Amino acid sequence: MTGRAGILDGKALAAQLHIELTQQIETLQPQMGRPPALAVLMVGDNPASLSYVRGKERACEKVGIASVGKHLPAETTQLELEKLIHDFNQDETVDGILIQLPLPSHLDAVALLSQIDSDKDVDGLHPLNLGRLVRAEVGLRSCTPAGIMRLLAAHEIDPTGKHVVIIGRSTLVGKPLALMMLNANATVTVAHSRTQNLEAIARGADILIAAAGHPNLVTADMVMPGATVIDVGTNRIVDETGKARLVGDVDFDNVQKVAKWLSPVPGGVGPMTVAMLLYNTVWSYRRKLHP
Ligand code: NAP
Repeated sequence: MTGRAGILDGKALAAQLHIELTQQIETLQPQMGRPPALAVLMVGDNPASLSYVRGKERACEKVGIASVGKHLPAETTQLELEKLIHDFNQDETVDGILIQLPLPSHLDAVALLSQIDSDKDVDGLHPLNLGRLVRAEVGLRSCTPAGIMRLLAAHEIDPTGKHVVIIGRSTLVGKPLALMMLNANATVTVAHSRTQNLEAIARGADILIAAAGHPNLVTADMVMPGATVIDVGTNRIVDETGKARLVGDVDFDNVQKVAKWLSPVPGGVGPMTVAMLLYNTVWSYRRKLHP
């Protein structure tokens, strides 16, 4: 291929989803008597997390979701967080609860995620929702993988029968995405840091998804001509001029010459992740009226 890959524009698609969600909220609110509400729990002052949380809160405000989250000091204890989660679980006016990860090392994220009411688990990380995904049952789905599936669907890229290679096996991205792809009838390979011959495996992908957190992990020679490449990686690098910028896991400029479709960083998977968080919050809200 000598052309340029089409750009999978997550920013534009997310903006469209925001409009749809705003309209849904306007329709539902008179019946509900209140707007939907999302509680984001943020512990400490990790600058990347702070910027993600602010982005989520701004997006909520734009579509009409109330943000009722808490920014807590780094020394917050497990017990204090458990109590907050319990209170938000009981609060009828809260539809979604999200714990911004990573948490400081003295806190047990897995134990805390399990305490969120599974019907308010808008990050889709509660064991019950992950189990529903395994069984292809209806339930709240993890935002990043769900956003990727939406991005593909919006461009009529159907994973049915395709070889999908996912680089990364985290509970947040790689594993749930592998299940969503299986449920969508793809043939799935999941690669990780112990995978041998990653280059050859990647070259066999009709749809290649990089979610490792390594700049330039995916080079043009690892991409089958005409493949779809999704870049999940979000890496902050400092360039020669001392300026920090965000890059993905894919060598964008060179892969663009080989792939048919490519998602950029920023502006690809990131905005779709936030859009799916809003979607999940409205989904939980709507289910109170139509269980
Ligand atoms: P993670 O928990 O650190 O997992 C990274 C995965 O990549 C692991 O499974 C690891 O293998 C694998 N890996 C690392 N280096 C590799 C290599 N050289 N070759 C093959 N596999 C390799 O990270 P994560 O939470 O899944 O996130 C992955 C990336 O996506 C990060 O850059 C993160 O910032 C980004 N992200 C973006 C969004 C978004 O909305 N855009 C959302 C979530 C995450 P092992 O299991 O063997 O260690």
